[in-house]
Amino acid sequence: MTKLEYPHSKIPMPGKTIQIATGVKWLRMPIPASLDHINLYLLEDNDGWFILDTGMGTSATKAQWHQIFAKELGGKPVKAVIVTHMHPDHIGQAGWLCEYWKVPLYMSQCEYECAKLAYAPASDTHIEETHLFYRSFGLNDVEAGKRTDQWTQRLWPIAALPESYIELKAGDSINIAGDQWRILIGRGHSPGHLCLYCESLGLLISGDQILPEITSNVSVYPGVFEQDPLHHWLESLRQFFELPDKTLVLPAHNQPFFGLHYRAESILNHHEEACAALEEACVSEKHGQQLLSVLFKRPLNSFETALAIGECSAHLNYLVNKQRLIRQSDEEGTHFYQVSN
Ligand SMILES: [Zn+2]
Repeated sequence: MTKLEYPHSKIPMPGKTIQIATGVKWLRMPIPASLDHINLYLLEDNDGWFILDTGMGTSATKAQWHQIFAKELGGKPVKAVIVTHMHPDHIGQAGWLCEYWKVPLYMSQCEYECAKLAYAPASDTHIEETHLFYRSFGLNDVEAGKRTDQWTQRLWPIAALPESYIELKAGDSINIAGDQWRILIGRGHSPGHLCLYCESLGLLISGDQILPEITSNVSVYPGVFEQDPLHHWLESLRQFFELPDKTLVLPAHNQPFFGLHYRAESILNHHEEACAALEEACVSEKHGQQLLSVLFKRPLNSFETALAIGECSAHLNYLVNKQRLIRQSDEEGTHFYQVSN
């Protein structure tokens, strides 16, 4: 396949679902940002429904969930909530849904533990490390301070997380109405992102691990700024070539699509092009702030800039780890990058 195909011409209306396959329903919840919406899925077992991702913890999503409960579950209860990863649009209502239905939460260990850390109040050490991270990127003290406040204030709309969860690991399977859904784990966008693959139905619930129209954010996060998420992201994408190309992908944003291999290949190429552009820009030494416009041509709002700094850092760390760039630091702690000869 050399392009993407979208078999569903319609999108679900608020509070309604569209049937994707026997026992698989697609719904959307609003996101108050440029992403606009998140796709969620309902999987029907003999005795109830699995909810796959939850929407942000807002009154708008709660109201829509009540509409779904009233009209879309065919009289069956919810039996469990599965969350692909810790980002607020995916996990935001998990605590409320689990409490409302008195059901367990399924997540990977990494995602659950990171969510607990990420949505807890930031420690003084973390605030200090965050400031250093932004300084190392090339921001001045005032700008680094503003970004640090933005990152550490923890203003995400998240319902309190359940105190316990059931761990899902790579290779685990969940039997839902006789169909086996195998767990794949991706890294790079988040530390232990769950995808669910069902061979008998030919479906992959991909979360943010592969999206049809946008590339997921791959970021270095303050506090863990030496890591190499882009390496893990590229490795994770490669596992999709092991699945049949005729798989229908159910992503977290935009519409279900065919063209898994083509899309994975396109994303791999996109990151290689970004890396090549950074190398070209680093014929003379630059710090991160001077390189943002190499990767992002359009104007960015404040939130997008925070993501862009993380993404630019991820590409720079990757290139340094691959010895394609050399990094040196000045006495202020700012990192400078130059192409290695
Ligand atoms: Zn995400």
